[in-house]
Amino acid sequence: MDKLDTYLNSINALVNKFVREIDEDYSAQLGTDFQALYDDDCITWTAIYSERGGEAFRNDFVKRFPIACDFDTFTLSILHEIGHLETEDEMVDDTSKRNRPMTNEQYFRLHNEYIATEWAGYWLEDNLATARKWNTAFLKAFRNLGTLITE
Ligand SMILES: [Zn+2]
Repeated sequence: MDKLDTYLNSINALVNKFVREIDEDYSAQLGTDFQALYDDDCITWTAIYSERGGEAFRNDFVKRFPIACDFDTFTLSILHEIGHLETEDEMVDDTSKRNRPMTNEQYFRLHNEYIATEWAGYWLEDNLATARKWNTAFLKAFRNLGTLITE
């Protein structure tokens, strides 16, 4: 295993610890995007943000839950995906809407997206100390990854 794999595996181990602290049945794996795998109670994460990840997602989250500005986009993204798992029973079938072109704002207002971030925001507000602990751990892990890539 090369150095990059070792780093990614250690980040994955951290993410797994975090999601298991929320629910011991949850797990996480490295993917090509942030995603919720409902059948497996699993979320995927990535170090590269998609078009709707990153800045636009973060701005929407912070607008709704101002405390989120203290947190890294990675932490917010993980919480949003857990929000999907947590709100699975309230989801609607929005496949046809999803397939139409839309702005980021319209995307974030899709029912399933809206309630996932809502769950994440309330969890954040109710678990600030825990959230800060994990946010720091993730930042530290990614700083190591950054060092590796620029070496
Ligand atoms: Zn989502």
